[in-house]
Amino acid sequence: MDALINDIEIIKAKTTKINDVDFDNLTFGKILTDHMLECDFKDGKWQAPKVVPYQPITLDPSAKIFHYGQSVFEGMKAYKDADGTVWLFRPLDNFKRLNISSKRLAIPELPEDYFMNGLKALLKVDSDWIPRNEGSSLYIRPFIFASGKGFHASPADEYKFIIACAPSGSYFSGEVKVLIEEKYSRSANGGVGFAKAGGNYAGQFYPTQLAVDKGYQQVIWTDDNTHEYIEEAGAMNIFVRINDTLITGPTSDRILDGITRKSIIELAQSKGIPVEVRKITVSEVVEAAKNGSLKEMFGAGTAAVISPISGFGYKNEDYDIPEMEDAYASFLKKHITDIQTNKSEDPFGWRYKVE
Ligand SMILES: *Cc1c(COP(=O)(O)O)cnc(C)c1O
Repeated sequence: MDALINDIEIIKAKTTKINDVDFDNLTFGKILTDHMLECDFKDGKWQAPKVVPYQPITLDPSAKIFHYGQSVFEGMKAYKDADGTVWLFRPLDNFKRLNISSKRLAIPELPEDYFMNGLKALLKVDSDWIPRNEGSSLYIRPFIFASGKGFHASPADEYKFIIACAPSGSYFSGEVKVLIEEKYSRSANGGVGFAKAGGNYAGQFYPTQLAVDKGYQQVIWTDDNTHEYIEEAGAMNIFVRINDTLITGPTSDRILDGITRKSIIELAQSKGIPVEVRKITVSEVVEAAKNGSLKEMFGAGTAAVISPISGFGYKNEDYDIPEMEDAYASFLKKHITDIQTNKSEDPFGWRYKVE
């Protein structure tokens, strides 16, 4: 043990990779920092978390993650302001959602102080990795998976909780055209769509690849039952602006309760933008695109914050959404990122100082 931070044991890496990193040209999530947080569930409880050198992990081939997919994750970001202070955005909401996801996947829930103190200790140790450049941040990936052994199809008796971090630039580059899905589903009533469960994303890759082959970048997921309602945009929540009203679907078993989504709703309302949380039909969006009242469509999630959609395909027709001068997307994105990076007041109390 080298030190203790917030009661967390720290084992420092002998060398650093940071000098090889070009912080002016960061991609998303490809370069990992020098350390990670590691915490094991065994003998019926979560053991003390530790910050250790970032390194590969060894697992038994019968570990249940490989066979039954028991795994959940979170996505969050840390920012460094001009004074070098480090900030998180609504981190307790990520912690709570991780446990909501875990519960659904029969994974034991994690104590709050293991998550928060572990995360803060890791950010202290890897503080030099938190970018200061405009648009960049430290992407944080907490995840839990079944490391316990055996081919019996039942919950594992051992789990691993890890937090790994990647200094990252912006998530999407360029135009995003989407295909409204008519056949495949991301989630279903009674299923696990509300959880950040690894398998949800595995199930999205094939239909997304089919859309990419047709020239789109993403799929707009529709409800599994009728495919008549617009639900999510890839792994992001979706917002539609018809005339001046911003609309997003209600969270459910099928629609994930995104932290960016709920922040956008609150922020937009506080700025006097009319917001409706209600089901959105594909036909009203197609109609609005035809008559010109569809002003904007964008995805919302931690990675991209807001990702504007420039057009969509549906039933072999393509519809353009021309770029607007005073788009809600750029207005809301600026306000949210200014709060996240401590460039503006935070009347909502969303910003969390890492001390
Ligand atoms: C993570 C995620 C979101 C966005 O959630 P944020 O908390 O805003 O990052 C939306 N939809 C799906 C399916 C997701 O996995």
